[in-house]
Amino acid sequence: MQPLNLKCVILLSPVFSVLTTNNTLCFQSLYQYNLHAIMTLLLISNMSFCPFFDFHKPVETAIFAMNSTHMRIDIITALPELLTGPLDHSIIKRAQQKGIVEIHIHNLRDYAFDKHKTIDDYPFSGGGGMVMMIEPIDRALADLKSRINYDEIIFTSPDGELFTQRMANQLSCTENIIILCGHYKGVDQRVRDHLVTREISIGDYVLTGGELAAAILADAIVRLLPGAISDEESALTDSFQDNLLAPPLYTRPKEYKGWKVPDILLSGNDKEIENWKMDQAIERTRLLRPDLLQE
Ligand code: SAH
Repeated sequence: MQPLNLKCVILLSPVFSVLTTNNTLCFQSLYQYNLHAIMTLLLISNMSFCPFFDFHKPVETAIFAMNSTHMRIDIITALPELLTGPLDHSIIKRAQQKGIVEIHIHNLRDYAFDKHKTIDDYPFSGGGGMVMMIEPIDRALADLKSRINYDEIIFTSPDGELFTQRMANQLSCTENIIILCGHYKGVDQRVRDHLVTREISIGDYVLTGGELAAAILADAIVRLLPGAISDEESALTDSFQDNLLAPPLYTRPKEYKGWKVPDILLSGNDKEIENWKMDQAIERTRLLRPDLLQE
């Protein structure tokens, strides 16, 4: 059977849109928002994360969907301590406690093959810096893959694809991913050529290791999972979700040191407030990130 673009599925039958295979959680969650939000997210996401719907097996697909109740992220690192803090607080901690996501951190040294737990060696090319060896990485990946099927094996690298909200949306619809953190001067090129499926950079600068990058990826992905944020709509109204920056926010007091909250926000007129928020979002994007409006 031909794969069906989910945009069409949603246009034809929004009810069926929740019955996708590994994208289910995502769409169950999105469906709670409203059709407009779903359409917006699909449009900005270029449909690339919602490929299949099996019209011939809706019941089976639904059962499969019900079963896939959480995401699993495995992180392979030479410095596990660097990850425990960032992943053990706030939304990402609660998501783990609620069983929405499982995050497993693996110490690469456990897969070293000598008694010194060596994971790096000198580069054949000479020059400074050590290189992470292929054997421990291959052993770690083989061990994980022998138990679970992974959708992506991501290597964090400054020369990878630039991480964006769109990519976070896509990855939040996968079930199992591995994130491999580099260290030292980098990894043996054969890891990149043969063992990983994707390389992601968090920005045009160089970090000491991939751990902080992995934490950023995990955070951005996990907060999109259904139930991770109690006010679910807020994940979809954040900056970048519709190629717009978020509008400004205000809370009490109405006036502080003579600095006032805009009158419109106190008017109680929901429609006008929505229009104001949209105008502000467009204006801020035009001023601060005009490139987004051209995408
Ligand atoms: N010699 C490499 C940099 C190595 S930095 C180069 O010039 O490209 C060591 C490790 O930190 C990398 O292997 C990568 O896993 C991680 N890292 C550094 N900067 C990163 C970035 N901007 N995004 C993602 N990972 C990064």
